[in-house]
Amino acid sequence: MSFDVVIRSVRLAPTGDAAAQLVDVAVTGPTIAAIRPAGTLDSAGAVELPGDGRLCSIPFVDPHVHLDAVLTVGEPHHNESGTLIEGIQTWAERKQTLTHEDVKRRALEAILWEVAQGTGLIRSHVDVCDPSLVALRALLELRQEVADLVELRLIAFPQDGILSFPDGEALMREAMRLGCDLIGGIPHYEWTREDGIAEVQFLFDLARETGAGIDLHCDETDDEQSRFLEHVAARTMRDGMQGRVVAGHTTAMGSYNDAYSFKLLQILRRAGVTIVANPLDNIVLQGRFDSYPKRRGMTRVKELDRLGINVVCGHDSIMDPWYPLGRGSMLDALSMLVHVAQMTGRSELFSAFAMITGNAARASGTATELREGGPADLVVLDCEDEAEAIRLRPPCRWVLRQGRLVAETPSGASVVHRGDGRTVPVTFTKPRGGPTG
Ligand SMILES: [Zn+2]
Repeated sequence: MSFDVVIRSVRLAPTGDAAAQLVDVAVTGPTIAAIRPAGTLDSAGAVELPGDGRLCSIPFVDPHVHLDAVLTVGEPHHNESGTLIEGIQTWAERKQTLTHEDVKRRALEAILWEVAQGTGLIRSHVDVCDPSLVALRALLELRQEVADLVELRLIAFPQDGILSFPDGEALMREAMRLGCDLIGGIPHYEWTREDGIAEVQFLFDLARETGAGIDLHCDETDDEQSRFLEHVAARTMRDGMQGRVVAGHTTAMGSYNDAYSFKLLQILRRAGVTIVANPLDNIVLQGRFDSYPKRRGMTRVKELDRLGINVVCGHDSIMDPWYPLGRGSMLDALSMLVHVAQMTGRSELFSAFAMITGNAARASGTATELREGGPADLVVLDCEDEAEAIRLRPPCRWVLRQGRLVAETPSGASVVHRGDGRTVPVTFTKPRGGPTG
């Protein structure tokens, strides 16, 4: 049998922190043709990529980003307070000047950053509180144009509310008619609690009408009275939408009392709702009304994960009015998550890696692991296991999509020049050998 590409000697994620066996991965067309013990596949005629013990995984998923706002930082001015509200005000100004080409140019640039760093599926919210839907039309066009690089799914996102924005319901319907993949929402931002509940009911009614899944922003506040997620879970069960509903941020859960959280987590598990934590944005945007002690403003990632609720990690912002930093690296986002959630236990690091790979793929209905006969969508990282991936946030040596090499980064090599003339390589890994050397 002949192959197009053979990747030699890699460790497949999830490794489970075991001494993972080294394997060769052979690709024919868009499919993984074979996975065999290292050194046993005939690579005659194939492009051979030397894995040298590196970690090989399904591509990263960015389950939550705002491509219409990326790379607008400083336009028309910087968010000097760093708060959510100044971010929303700054975006409201910048939104007036959006053009079709402006949105496409910035979104494409951010997509290239994400693809170069191993992301194969991006779920982007698009602000549809705009009578002309400029950003949505631009991103719908871009979705086709980048199909060779990444699968882009678009979520109709009512940034300024649905009931609280003129013609909000009509704009949501129009966004779905134009081709959005998923229904977004923001119930905690409506003017009243009752409007927020009405918004949730509208989202599920729209899901019935269109057949689309739901991916809403929910309870992104430190207000422990913000409790729209229970309505989301209840409608998910009543409408039989288990596995098709995603709730982003849910930071209020970090402020709920334990008795209420206990109840909420039980119904979330029954409803099969996926929770997206966005730690890069939320560690800087939440806790802003606190003096000290100051809350972390993140949802209960560790507790949700332990209960078997599907938890994923999003990038959310890349250099926009809410978050001036970011470079489109899902490993940056995950590194922040394990810090804020205190998931630095050995096994927790391995669980966390699934939040940008298998868990996130499950929420999107795409392949959750590499297997023979599965799609040849994969990344090879410059590290040996998942814990190292989070610690080093290394470059992606190779990124394959449908069997085609779509990105590569040469291995970096740092050296230190000693005073005696020696040059010492630095690998950022522990020296071999234990206490006895
Ligand atoms: Zn968001």
